[in-house]
Amino acid sequence: MKSIVFIAPPAAGKGTQSLLIKEKYNIPHISTGDLLREAIEKHDERGKYIEKQMVLGNLVSDDIILELLAERLNNTDCDNGYILDGFPRNLEQAYAYDELLKKIGKELGIVIVLELDKEEAKKRIVGRHSCPQCGEIYNTMFEETKPLQEGLCNKCYIPLIQRIDDNEETFNKRFDTYIEKTAPLIDHYEKIGVLYRVNSGINKETTFKSIQKILNNQENL
Ligand code: AMP
Repeated sequence: MKSIVFIAPPAAGKGTQSLLIKEKYNIPHISTGDLLREAIEKHDERGKYIEKQMVLGNLVSDDIILELLAERLNNTDCDNGYILDGFPRNLEQAYAYDELLKKIGKELGIVIVLELDKEEAKKRIVGRHSCPQCGEIYNTMFEETKPLQEGLCNKCYIPLIQRIDDNEETFNKRFDTYIEKTAPLIDHYEKIGVLYRVNSGINKETTFKSIQKILNNQENL
């Protein structure tokens, strides 16, 4: 299967779509945000630095990201493709990723942009909660994505958590960072001919249908 890179503003659903693809196509989901959140849990100097950048809505240094990612891609579960959620986040990372792929003998695959406007993204951020055990994502702002029991995962029945950077102030900074640093990647990958655009503004089912259409049309899927 070809690997998939997601480019998307905050709350466009790259985590949700990654989990749906993972289930249906059986390839691992690698979220650099999750790798960073795990690194924070070590409570060392690096973890403190990462936490500070995340809370400010800044990007974490390319060196740290590349180190964490290279380590993760080494795992044999990545041999038949993987979903990359949250990387690359700027052109420097895209170039470094090309080098890394050459070094480890893997192909880029395809790049999917999830398109969502700022106001809708903001609404989604404020209510976003997730299950610390299974990773299921809920949104308390919308009837159809609320947990059945307030504050509890529908599957695991344990309390939901909210991310340290899911608040309005950090959201504004993250969105600006996306426009300034990450959005230029869209042009970059369009020129290479690997880019697909998906409207992420309706609901997760519609978005997933569009993604499946793209994946099923790939040769050597
Ligand atoms: P995400 O979970 O993808 O929304 O990422 C949450 C936060 O983690 C971002 O706002 C950044 O602070 C940091 N982050 C995630 N991926 C990267 C990356 N590829 N480069 C730099 N910082 C990142």
